Amino acid sequence: MAAISGSRKMQALDALESNVRTYSRSFPAMFSRARGSIMLTEDGRNVVDFLSGAGTLNYGHNNHRLKAAIADYLASDAVVHGLDMATPAKLKFMETFNSIILAKRNLEYRFQFTGPTGANAIEAAIKLARKVTGRQNIISFTNGYHGMSLGAMAASGNRFYRTASGVGLSGTTFMPYDGYLGPDVDTADFLQKVLMDESSGIDCPAAILVETVQGEGGINVASKEWLQSIQAKAKCADALFIVDDVQMGCGRTGEFFSFEFADLSPDIVVLSKSLSGYGLPLSMLLIKEEFDAWQPGEHTGTFRGNNLALVSATAAIDLYWRDETFSQEVRRTGEAMRGRLEAIAAKRGNSFAVRGRGMAVGFDCQMPEIAAATARNAFEKGLIVERCGPVDQVVKFLPALTIDCETLNQGLEIFEQALDQALKQTRSS
Ligand SMILES: *Cc1c(COP(=O)(O)O)cnc(C)c1O
Repeated sequence: MAAISGSRKMQALDALESNVRTYSRSFPAMFSRARGSIMLTEDGRNVVDFLSGAGTLNYGHNNHRLKAAIADYLASDAVVHGLDMATPAKLKFMETFNSIILAKRNLEYRFQFTGPTGANAIEAAIKLARKVTGRQNIISFTNGYHGMSLGAMAASGNRFYRTASGVGLSGTTFMPYDGYLGPDVDTADFLQKVLMDESSGIDCPAAILVETVQGEGGINVASKEWLQSIQAKAKCADALFIVDDVQMGCGRTGEFFSFEFADLSPDIVVLSKSLSGYGLPLSMLLIKEEFDAWQPGEHTGTFRGNNLALVSATAAIDLYWRDETFSQEVRRTGEAMRGRLEAIAAKRGNSFAVRGRGMAVGFDCQMPEIAAATARNAFEKGLIVERCGPVDQVVKFLPALTIDCETLNQGLEIFEQALDQALKQTRSS
């Protein structure tokens, strides 16, 4: 077992690194190399990766076709860091993104490169909405997750994280997400009601901030009708409609933007995680021109639009998004994955639920101890899967979109065995 054979180095790491570390606890091994959907531990184990850097590695680890672009760029002594100075790499990225992604979808946006984290991009989006509207209140949703900085955290639901902020988090109001009150309640109606009611106690919003599928929140999938309705309500309230596509964007749901299926036209789109295509930090906002109300330098930062990340991002868009092939493949693989997980759930009674869109799939164990034991067993058997949801009761599947059939099946096979083992363990304890 990796935890034992790698134990000396793991102990050294544990002694040096802050108590705050998480993934090195969930997956106790020294990971030395990775390629595609396989990670290699120092003691020679091959582990299938269904976590993909929490959705950062949609094109797999060390994708060789993208690596070539980065290697060439480095070899040419082109500018790697230049704050947000003009570089050919940046221009090429915007032109490529414009023609391959935006123009084909009839979308028109300006690009804002923010600091490297998703959280910083969310901060920028929230600030801009407040500036544009002169209002403070951001409406976000139950179980939403938008990042760790104070503004982004104020819009995030998780109580454990919120408490860790140490100060009061303000400027946001939470509304029930799609399905939060059961299948018979349209929570968009509730939002409508409080927005229209002069005495609801909810301040007029600067923005409505939403994920189309809640990643950290438990793979909660919003319907097309609900999303359209939320967008309409934002418009009606003169609030900006912001889609946080940090985790579900860049192809995860089977289309480049997660909102395409619902024909939405967000005022601001937030992208990060898989944007660079290579695991390099890169975040940006897409802003409708009429809302680009920034003064020069009003939201700044040292690492904005890092050129190396822009080079791999350009290569990824060029390679995977020129036509519909990749998108179709992702949808097909997603359906196969969901079908298999639904069959696994059905075989074991009705205590499990499978949710998802594209290749973001959640297996809801209802009981956190079953999800925890399953993930633990899975890792011992050679599979990395993460948990999510309010009490971490959902096993989350985010394999690389480029994963091959055999590796995908191998991972699902391991998951099934790990689940059965977990059911035995929890029954006998
Ligand atoms: C990960 C994530 C963020 C925050 O991104 P960081 O890079 O971790 O700051 C924001 N929104 C969503 C939906 C995310 O999944």
